[in-house]
Amino acid sequence: MIIAIDGPAASGKGTIARRLAERFRLPHLDTGLLYRATAAALIGAGRDLHDERAAVAAARGLGLTDFDETVLRRREMGEAASVVAAMPGVREALLEAQRAFAARPDGAVLDGRDIGTVVCPGADVKIFVTASASARAQRRALELAQRGERVDYAAVFADILRRDARDSERSAAPLRAAEDAVRLDTTRLSVEAAVAEAARIVEVARVRA
Ligand code: C5P
Repeated sequence: MIIAIDGPAASGKGTIARRLAERFRLPHLDTGLLYRATAAALIGAGRDLHDERAAVAAARGLGLTDFDETVLRRREMGEAASVVAAMPGVREALLEAQRAFAARPDGAVLDGRDIGTVVCPGADVKIFVTASASARAQRRALELAQRGERVDYAAVFADILRRDARDSERSAAPLRAAEDAVRLDTTRLSVEAAVAEAARIVEVARVRA
């Protein structure tokens, strides 16, 4: 069973994907880490973030493991990731590894922006997770503070809006719900309630399959 979870930054898709993977005993790939790691590799090599050739080479050189999440989850890495993620060559370079991950024998859970539309258009279940921008900014600010980052709510809110615009307006695989995705608005849901609703959506799809 392939479960595709898409949605904007801090919508809750990562937590939902992780919890579904545990529940249905499937491997999980957070595809945002691939874009974050690509950006981190460029920054680490002192290259310009807008250098598409260098970005494609960095994306091609990535493995699916050894991600240092402490670095990759930092606020500026989300921002940098969305710059390289707008480059068609970078997306192309990362596509095969994502599809190979999804093709594991028992299936997989993948979360990102274009899983249901581009990476796994034939996924058995597609969930598009949303939440209001202010709810997402609050969650992200809390998460960053828990990781020890100094956070300014207004700056985090501005990041979220900027990232939404960049991810939705780019021409390569823009953020949008697949036509056959089930929408899940988590604005007023606790983590437990959101996960329970997502699991219900998966169960319904399983019964129908
Ligand atoms: O989900 P996360 O916040 O870690 O993603 C970081 C950035 O990577 C996103 O803002 C988006 O630009 C990009 N991304 C993408 N496609 C994916 C996953 C992430 O374009 N499937």
